[in-house]
Amino acid sequence: MVASVKPITIVGGGLAGLTLGIGLRQRGVPAALWEAGHYPRHRVCGEFICGRGLETLARLGLRELLDRAGAVGADTAAFFSETQSTRPLPLPSRAICLSRFTLDQLLANEFQKLGGELRAGQRWPAVGVHASACPDRLKPELQPEGIVRATGRRLQTEEGGGRWFGLKAHAHNVPLTAGLEMHVSHRGYVGLCRVNGDKVNVCGLFRRRAGENIGPQDRREWLRGPIGSPLHRRLAAAEFDEDSFCAVAGLSLRPYRAVARADCCIGDAITMIPPVTGNGMSMAFESAELAIEPLAAWSRGENSWAGTRPQIASRCDAAFARRLAWAKWLQRFVLMPPLQSTLVRLAARNDWFWRLAFEKTR
Ligand SMILES: Cc1cc2nc3c(=O)[nH]c(=O)nc-3n(C[C@H](O)[C@H](O)[C@H](O)COP(=O)(O)OP(=O)(O)OC[C@H]3O[C@@H](n4cnc5c(N)ncnc54)[C@H](O)[C@@H]3O)c2cc1C
Repeated sequence: MVASVKPITIVGGGLAGLTLGIGLRQRGVPAALWEAGHYPRHRVCGEFICGRGLETLARLGLRELLDRAGAVGADTAAFFSETQSTRPLPLPSRAICLSRFTLDQLLANEFQKLGGELRAGQRWPAVGVHASACPDRLKPELQPEGIVRATGRRLQTEEGGGRWFGLKAHAHNVPLTAGLEMHVSHRGYVGLCRVNGDKVNVCGLFRRRAGENIGPQDRREWLRGPIGSPLHRRLAAAEFDEDSFCAVAGLSLRPYRAVARADCCIGDAITMIPPVTGNGMSMAFESAELAIEPLAAWSRGENSWAGTRPQIASRCDAAFARRLAWAKWLQRFVLMPPLQSTLVRLAARNDWFWRLAFEKTR
């Protein structure tokens, strides 16, 4: 007789939720995934995947799927301030670039192929309808069992007197000097990388002053960067794909610990690493992988929920604490306009400086 297994409900079908769903299905665990949006869809993301998350993808048998979908390899990075630049610097390890439009759809298909129940276009019910809609407000002992929150970034209205917002669009006709180009300016930073379909993803994180409104007509200018900057020159002939424009606001870049949360979280729902590191997707894949075995054990009745949730949280904190601490400082320095050209000069002259920043944030 086959012992009964308890199902897992995953709230949020971004990278963390879908990867977890796939991992659970590979182990025969029943999994239902609620996703408020639909697939495929464009997401604000640099679409540059690097670090340990690539190993997670390989272990789950997904790496090949990404390659088959046209993921573009990146072996170099170049950095630009408004006045300084580096030559293409070798990346300590190869990265890959794939549009979220393709990636999320691909993982959603894989989850369904493995027998996962995908409830796309269905938002997990709101407070009052279902108490677990806001599970982090409940005490741990009141948490509903078997529910994993992979709902992405937390909303933050203001941080340090300004508001973070992200913009992204795909463009044609953008010549690049490296697999990844990172441009910093007094407004924030913009990353450029070639993705599948011979397009360049143009994605930026910016700070606007309280009360400053950014209309849809301004998005292109923010992405193009200050007039006269290397970024502005790079995008001089860019033809933007209008359908790919997207924006997010209210980003919180403060690090949080998973153990401090009452609910079971993975990915950005735990904390969002500053995008300058290009490591958020990796953390989404990695945190999902760290949760698979404890959740499968709970499903088989081998562990209580009260033991499973903190086990996943401690695993995630142990894996991410160091890189979050480094990322916080890196982000702070990169966004100080008087320091930007010095940092780019340092990266150009000292390999160790750039390698240290890369390795410590992954
Ligand atoms: C400007 C910017 C640039 C970035 N660049 C990079 C980069 O180059 N490389 C990198 O690795 N990372 C990058 N990141 C970070 C990366 O995009 C995120 O870390 C990653 O998407 C997190 O995945 P996730 O699954 O945790 O969350 P998400 O991908 O955000 O998915 C969460 C999902 O949950 C769904 N959801 C939320 N609430 C509910 C609900 N109640 N019911 C049902 N569904 C719900 C949402 O619709 C969403 O689809 C960047 C981020 C920003 C903002």
